[in-house]
Amino acid sequence: MSNTILVCGAGGFIGGHLVAELRKQGHTVRAADQKPLGDWYQRFEDVDSRQLDLSRLDHCEQAVEGCATVYNLAADMGGMGFIELNKALCMLTVLINTHLLMAARKFAVQRFFFSSSACVYNGDKQRDPNVTALKEEDAYPALPEDGYGWEKLFSERMCRHFREDFGVGTRIGRYHNVYGPSGTYDGGREKAPAAVCRKVIAAKLSGKHEIEIWGSGDQTRSFMFIDDCVKGTQMLLESDFVEPINIGSSELVSINQLVDIVEDIAGVKLTRSYNLGAPKGVNGRNSDNSLIQKTFGWEPSTRLRDGMEITYRWIHDEMVKLQSGGVSVVNRT
Ligand code: NAD
Repeated sequence: MSNTILVCGAGGFIGGHLVAELRKQGHTVRAADQKPLGDWYQRFEDVDSRQLDLSRLDHCEQAVEGCATVYNLAADMGGMGFIELNKALCMLTVLINTHLLMAARKFAVQRFFFSSSACVYNGDKQRDPNVTALKEEDAYPALPEDGYGWEKLFSERMCRHFREDFGVGTRIGRYHNVYGPSGTYDGGREKAPAAVCRKVIAAKLSGKHEIEIWGSGDQTRSFMFIDDCVKGTQMLLESDFVEPINIGSSELVSINQLVDIVEDIAGVKLTRSYNLGAPKGVNGRNSDNSLIQKTFGWEPSTRLRDGMEITYRWIHDEMVKLQSGGVSVVNRT
């Protein structure tokens, strides 16, 4: 069997960084995404990169054939603004995971990673901004985020049953809000860290020192830097741990505190207005990292301030490039 590793969703944010890291480590990588190759955030000439629609079984089979390992990072997704308003599209992502698992079974794939989400957790446990961090068992009884979260929870179960019934070596990571450079920062699919950076940079560049915040700003979250995400993902895939596990930071902040951090990086103070009608998700959410600590002796620990500094610089450079009529290195969908 070849040692080729398939990364699905490789034209996107996390998939792009994973390809970069695996390639750096010397692995043979195949990359797949439905976006035209020129629109991928990161692409490498020496990586077999294919434009494929992975909601189709025949395209999944083309992608998977000859690979021993599959990382599935492909999904039709975005931040709260996208997932609250596109529940049917989010649920259709079930086709990607279903067909990838069927192809993995057909071609006897040894390891299969599924990128699940903190959105699988029961909403009743996330009503208070002063959260009790979420443990893996808090996904049941099930009351996940409508649309996106239900798809993730269902696909988690499918991974489990493909492992138990068909011997596909599935591993399931529940990501909590991932951020970093080379990802979406505008267009409607961006998540809070990138959106806040974009808004602060726009205010700074325009001299209009105002910012609109979605919700009251009191809602709390933890945010994981991309390098930790990639490390945790590979660690889990290579391990014998088969149950779903949190891959997230436990550094909890409110959205107002996130804005404080970005203002500090930018060296500006903005007048804040609050859009209480905008999508804002649950009131509070944090990652309980006892299980990942116990299992791997490790947890995502990049300080938010440090990761946001890197993210801010990248988005800043992209926006300045676009403003001055240059071409962005990425196509922002
Ligand atoms: P992303 O949107 O940047 O990347 C997803 C990629 O999947 C995109 O490039 C998209 O073109 C591709 N895709 C969508 N439909 C496809 C199809 N039919 N065929 C082939 N490719 C298709 O998102 P991301 O932030 O890199 O997220 C990667 C994975 O991690 C997703 O499963 C997502 O649900 C999960 N996740 C991400 C976060 C986060 O904060 N970014 C949090 C929890 C879970």
